[in-house]
Amino acid sequence: MTYHHTQYLEDGSIASTLADLARAHRILELEGHGDMSMGHLSYRDPFGRGLWLKRGNLALSEVVDDDFILIDFDGNVLEGTGLRHIEWPLHAEILRARPDVNFVGHSHSHFATVLASSTEELLPYNNHGIWFAYEGVPRFADTCHIITTVPLGVDAAKTLGNAQALFLANHGIAFVGSTVAEVTLTGIFLEKAARFQVDLKSSGFTPILPDPEEAKEKFDRIYPPKAQHNFWTFFNRRLDRVEALQGIGISQISLPSAV
Ligand SMILES: [Zn+2]
Repeated sequence: MTYHHTQYLEDGSIASTLADLARAHRILELEGHGDMSMGHLSYRDPFGRGLWLKRGNLALSEVVDDDFILIDFDGNVLEGTGLRHIEWPLHAEILRARPDVNFVGHSHSHFATVLASSTEELLPYNNHGIWFAYEGVPRFADTCHIITTVPLGVDAAKTLGNAQALFLANHGIAFVGSTVAEVTLTGIFLEKAARFQVDLKSSGFTPILPDPEEAKEKFDRIYPPKAQHNFWTFFNRRLDRVEALQGIGISQISLPSAV
C-alpha cells in the first residue's frame, strides 16, 4: 500500500477508519508490542452497535483492512468472521466507561509489562513519559489473569479512570485514545517511556524527577494535535518503507537488551 498524506483521519467512514486501525496494529508490532497472535485494538462503532475488534489468531503484524469483527457490548458477534478474542470485556467495559474514548488497545509489550509486573510508578523522566504527565499510568493488580470476564473488565476500567493507559500486573497494558493516532501514540510512548525508565534505573545513575506542574506544561507544548498528527504520519511513512522491503506480516526478530 502506498502512503498518501491525506489518507489518515480525513475520511470518517468505518472502512477507512479500520484501514487506519489495521495499520496501527502493524506499527505497534514494529514498536515492540508483538507477542505471537496476542494483542488487539478496537474501535467504537459510530452507529452505537458496539465495537470493531481485531479478529483472533493473527499477529499484530498481519492485520489488514477487514480483519475485524463487530461485537456488541455484551460480546455477541454482529458482523464479520473469525475468532473473537477472549479479552473482549476489557475493550467493551473501557468503552462503556469512557465516552471520550473511541479506540482501545491491549498488548504485552516487553518493557511496559516489566513495569506492570512491579510496583514501579511510571514517571515523566523523558519526552515519552511526559505523555502521561497528567494522569499517570494506574495499575490493575487485583489479578494476574487475562481479562476475560465482564466483572474483571469493569474493575479494570474503574482503575483506568481518566488515564490514557493502564498497567495490568503480571500481564500487559491497556491504552486508549479518541483517535486512531492517539491510541497508537499512547501505546508507542508507553513502551518507550517504560524502556527508558528501566534503562535509567538500571544505570545506577541518580534520576532527576521533573517538577510535576512543569511536566504537564511540557505535555501541552510538545504534544498539540498538530504534533500528534505529524508523529502518526511519520510512523505510517516508516511502516510503508519497512513493508516495501519485507512485505506485510513479518515481525521484528529480536529486541535489544535493556542494559
Ligand atoms: Zn492479554
